[in-house]
Amino acid sequence: MSQQTRFLLGEADIPRYWYNINADNPIPPAPVLNPMTLEPVTPDFLSAIFPMSLILQEISTERYIEIPEEVREIYKLWRPTPLIRARRLEQALQTPAHIYYKYEGGSPSGSHKSNTAVAQAFYNKAAGTKAITTETGAGQWGSALSMACAFFDIALEVYMVKVSYEQKPYRRYLMETYNAQVFASPSDRTQAGRAIRAQDPDSPGSLGIAISEAVEMAATSNGAKKYSLGSVLNHVLLHQTVIGEEALKQMDMAGEYPDVVIGCVGGGSNFSGIAFPFLRENLKNGARTRLLAVEPQAAPSITRGMYAFDYGDTARMAPVVKMHTLGHDFIPPKIHAGGLRYHGMAPTLSALCDAGYIEAKAVSQVSVFEAGVMFARSEGILPAPESAHAIRAAIDEALQARQTGEKRVILFNLSGHGHFDLSAYEAFNSGRLQDDTLPESVITTLKERLPVVEVMA
Ligand SMILES: *Cc1c(COP(=O)(O)O)cnc(C)c1O
Repeated sequence: MSQQTRFLLGEADIPRYWYNINADNPIPPAPVLNPMTLEPVTPDFLSAIFPMSLILQEISTERYIEIPEEVREIYKLWRPTPLIRARRLEQALQTPAHIYYKYEGGSPSGSHKSNTAVAQAFYNKAAGTKAITTETGAGQWGSALSMACAFFDIALEVYMVKVSYEQKPYRRYLMETYNAQVFASPSDRTQAGRAIRAQDPDSPGSLGIAISEAVEMAATSNGAKKYSLGSVLNHVLLHQTVIGEEALKQMDMAGEYPDVVIGCVGGGSNFSGIAFPFLRENLKNGARTRLLAVEPQAAPSITRGMYAFDYGDTARMAPVVKMHTLGHDFIPPKIHAGGLRYHGMAPTLSALCDAGYIEAKAVSQVSVFEAGVMFARSEGILPAPESAHAIRAAIDEALQARQTGEKRVILFNLSGHGHFDLSAYEAFNSGRLQDDTLPESVITTLKERLPVVEVMA
């Protein structure tokens, strides 16, 4: 048998439907609460900042939602994405395990985020939206949405977490090239930003703060601007399921089925995108794949946080949802994986973790860069620091398989490339990178920092 390495689909294989886990989810969703009243939200609260089509997707329990033809046409620019057998990494690890990765870094903006950015811009355009606000961490989401807004001729305002704005100026230049306006967050353009700056003029910012700024700008625009979120929400996880649907077909081409599916988690969208179609096979067709979410030790919401109601943002303007959280006021250490510096987690993913359908583990920054460098030297692709969390876990699974002599089949999502993260690799290569650990007080004071919510069963 010849040794096939890349498993490629044609344009006709681009999925026609997104898969909605909430059709098959064994756990009923917890209510979404208004941040002012802590009562369940009403549609008009959400419709101030989101178009109705996306709100309907957010609450839908329909199993398959058709991908609009215009969105599929744009997906053709980078989809289907390749599934690659990491044969050279397997050799380097001397493992009997078979390692596959789905590569989302070939999208024009460099990550999986384009999958939902294009869909969200499309639905906004259809609803007549002229301008959108958003946040970005390391800049991948901002880049993806900037591209999508350029395609649909929508103005875009991006609040970029200050530490990343400073560490990663080239992401900003890319967003500006796509015609977006980019502001370092906390900025002086919003009440939320000014309040944080008054408390701490040197605040590095966080995704929670940047979300507050972007939501405030949309909520106070009298309908002129809508807000768009790059992760966490059901409709975002939904749009990412093209990854797992393609991967199912490609694993079939490879004649194998994964024992474990791995992804890194910031808000949970790329992991859910690859994992939910495999979870469907577990729930409905008797498959028994382990699903493993990997988070940074500096922001370990699933493994160390509480499963409780909390605000989605720092200034308490975003809805209150039940999720794994480290507290909306927690500002994570300045790790280089900016896309994972979020205090919370997607509520749907949190519920599935809490009920044991999905596993989670936390890994340290230095071990992540060791894995990223090993991957670059064996497979050639320089991974985003976020994606390198998934690589770390995949390598650990392969090393375990070596110990037990097991032919484990491992699939992970390589969510993006790291070409804009070279300063982080330089810090690692010169030995300056350290493990940023979580201050213990974050955990011990957690209960006191959460909103007091009494929701009827
Ligand atoms: C944003 C980002 C992440 C984290 O976000 P999720 O919603 O958890 O996927 C991971 N990898 C890359 C490359 C990203 O850009």
